[in-house]
Amino acid sequence: MRDCNQCGKCCIHYGGNGLSASDEDLNWWENNRPDIFKLVKNKQIWFDPATSAPMETCPWLRKLPNQAKYTCEIYFDRPEDCRLYPSSIDEMIRDECEMIEPADMRNIRKAQQQLDIIMSDSRPSSTG
Ligand code: SF4
Ligand code: SF4
Repeated sequence: MRDCNQCGKCCIHYGGNGLSASDEDLNWWENNRPDIFKLVKNKQIWFDPATSAPMETCPWLRKLPNQAKYTCEIYFDRPEDCRLYPSSIDEMIRDECEMIEPADMRNIRKAQQQLDIIMSDSRPSSTG
């Protein structure tokens, strides 16, 4: 499995109306990141604070100059949905995630095990 190359496909695909925020995200933003919280409406993300209209693309996605790479402007405070992506090989294949390489396709089970190790820092502990 390759490292994430910041191709941005996942953020472009899900960043508009395909994301949800956890209660912990909402509480954190409300108390610490009012600039993020003002794009929340009825616990849903993201809404234009000027018009209250839903945003079609993620407002925090930035393309790096002269590169086909993207970065997240709120990376350390991004929603839980974003922190947990990618969660499964099936999802990555469906989304054409560029971390997938031919060897992963030949052994999906092993690829999932590799992904679980890569993502272990991002996921809540199952043992509490
Ligand atoms: S909040 Fe950041 S990680 Fe999540 S979709 Fe937007 S740019 Fe991507
Ligand atoms: S689609 Fe995959 S490779 Fe591309 S930015 Fe998202 S996680 Fe990284």
